[in-house]
Amino acid sequence: MNKSEPRGYHGIDIGGSKIELVAYAETDDVLIEVHRERIATPGTDFAAFLQAMEGLIGRADAALGLRAPVGIGLPGVIDSVSGRHLSSNVPAFNGRLVVSALQQALQRPLAFGNDCQCFALSEAQGGAAAGLASMFGAIIGTGAGGGYCVDGRLLRGLNGVAGEWGHWPLPASLLQAYDLPLHACPCGRRGCLERYVSGPGMSLLHRHFGGDGEPPLAIVARAQTGSEAAARTLEIHADLLGHALASLVMAFDPHAIVLGGGLSQLSHLYEQLPGAVRRHLFAGVRVPPILPPTFGDSGGARGAALLAKQQVPRLHLPAAHQDAASTGAD
Ligand SMILES: [Zn+2]
Repeated sequence: MNKSEPRGYHGIDIGGSKIELVAYAETDDVLIEVHRERIATPGTDFAAFLQAMEGLIGRADAALGLRAPVGIGLPGVIDSVSGRHLSSNVPAFNGRLVVSALQQALQRPLAFGNDCQCFALSEAQGGAAAGLASMFGAIIGTGAGGGYCVDGRLLRGLNGVAGEWGHWPLPASLLQAYDLPLHACPCGRRGCLERYVSGPGMSLLHRHFGGDGEPPLAIVARAQTGSEAAARTLEIHADLLGHALASLVMAFDPHAIVLGGGLSQLSHLYEQLPGAVRRHLFAGVRVPPILPPTFGDSGGARGAALLAKQQVPRLHLPAAHQDAASTGAD
């Protein structure tokens, strides 16, 4: 592509209840927002979903003045062999070839990632970890997932699951130390970290330690007013999360860990986690800075646009190579 040609990207974040699009013009390698639109997700009607996407992107093209490549943050898990959606908070996606349907409907270069990968990329480029050689973006919200970036680029891996730490198992030593039950996970396995450290996971811990399983913010409020069950819940939760982040350090050794999702708003985590991570690392290993997000949830569409930008040299490959480019098999 000619350098003087006007360039731009659309980023789309698809959630269970809303779809957000942000259109960016690119100037001197910097993305400048020119258009933003949010619509309700047609969650149960796949044809209506495709139609809504076409309308959304058509309006964004008009605002940008060009037919731009699109990065799309998709919810749920995609079978890397069949390409079908396995589980998603958009019921219309389940069992469908969502990626190929979108490629067929939209007829332009598309890049796909999940919400955690888009979050990580957004925080790596111009966000909390801007300029660092590597970073891990860890989302802790209704679930737990993440993405790993090196030099501002997202590492995708063979299956696109690099950084899916939420489905690493909690070690038996910690299950035994705190006498925790082995919770089943929607992924089909048991004892996944997500079931203990996510928002719902913290509520389950609270119930286990004698509380009534309130949401995280209420547990924090109760701990501040002297509830022993709430204080115990926060202490154990920080230790389990510390173990998880220590494992991330051993796997990826990132220069910073940026937290995202609902639990990234809990200020006590930034005080307690460095010590908790250190307890699970051997001597001589430095704990990376654990940082709050710059963009947070609003970084999803931005990260998706950055993913399109990252993939663009590949998106313009001949058709025979398009599959590898669009699924981002880096
Ligand atoms: Zn799992």
